[in-house]
Amino acid sequence: MNIDSIQNGIVIDHIKAGSAMELYDLLGLDALDVSVAIIKNVSSRKMGKKDIIKIDADIPVDLDVIGYVDPGATINVIKDGLLVEKKTLSLPKTLTNVLKCKNPRCITSCEQELDHVFRLTDESKKLYRCVYCETKAN
Ligand code: ZN
Repeated sequence: MNIDSIQNGIVIDHIKAGSAMELYDLLGLDALDVSVAIIKNVSSRKMGKKDIIKIDADIPVDLDVIGYVDPGATINVIKDGLLVEKKTLSLPKTLTNVLKCKNPRCITSCEQELDHVFRLTDESKKLYRCVYCETKAN
């Protein structure tokens, strides 16, 4: 794939340097049969260094996951080689099935069918807590 010219897909830009792999994992991109380019430590006038992920397929991506990893990232949607949409992000108020609760006594540890839900409890510290047992996400 020519990483400079995606015809139909998504470019996640302005990812803070070093976060691309975490985003790649949390988005589950390794499980998908699509071309993905991860470009690390790109020089950026605004940020110094940044990471970029280019997905050469028109697939749905979980914007909550991207907002959680880096609310400063921007999403560019490419159709027929043209930028058709630019999305900005914010820290999501809740995260569903993105993180797993680490508390072994949490109800989500025994009830397998329960969604793992975390709620943003402190925006400045980017602190999420399990809605069931209040355990911190990180
Ligand atoms: Zn919990």
